[in-house]
Amino acid sequence: MTNIVLFGPPGAGKGTQAEVLKEKYQLIHLSTGDMFRYHMKNDTELGKLAKTYTEKGHLVPDSVTNEMLKDEVNRQLENNPNGFLFDGYPRTKDQAQVLTDFMTEKKTKIAAMVALEVGDEILVGRLLDRGKSSGRADDANEEVIRERIAEYYRKTDVLKEYYQAENKYYGVNGVGSVEEITARLTEVIGKL
Ligand code: ADP
Repeated sequence: MTNIVLFGPPGAGKGTQAEVLKEKYQLIHLSTGDMFRYHMKNDTELGKLAKTYTEKGHLVPDSVTNEMLKDEVNRQLENNPNGFLFDGYPRTKDQAQVLTDFMTEKKTKIAAMVALEVGDEILVGRLLDRGKSSGRADDANEEVIRERIAEYYRKTDVLKEYYQAENKYYGVNGVGSVEEITARLTEVIGKL
């Protein structure tokens, strides 16, 4: 299996690129943001809990997120996938360690973290723009958008170092057309 972590701050384009990459490499796309939105839409207990965090732009606690992610990986493993494309996970050091251990338990590993690098003001602009059509409450409010970016720098950005220490970090310029950015990502993934 080839398992890839697609990384970057909110609005970097992870979801957009994941849609292309999952087809190209036949990977299972796992987005924890999508999973939380599914639960919120269906008003499950998990969704109700997640909403209290997502609406403020804060991360959902690790214990909750880790269990949800592991359940989904276990479910998908029954179909013998080529690999996973993790989008929006891990987002904390604890999550990264849980993922490393979980991959080892499943006799596989993370091949690479591929990061989309985009400046903060471009991110805010993109997210406000997305908010006009996405229907996502967390994209509709600039304060919440800025809090998500702040949360990224508080808790998530440090994961670069975690994967760099394992020689698995690849940064890619995330500014340009969708096709240009896909080409940059495939150059990295093709060499794995
Ligand atoms: P974005 O990257 O645009 O902020 P996501 O769709 O990845 O959006 O996530 C939306 C929200 O879901 C996050 O703001 C956070 O509250 C929650 N979330 C998603 N993934 C995680 C995660 N790995 N750990 C904790 N919370 C998460």
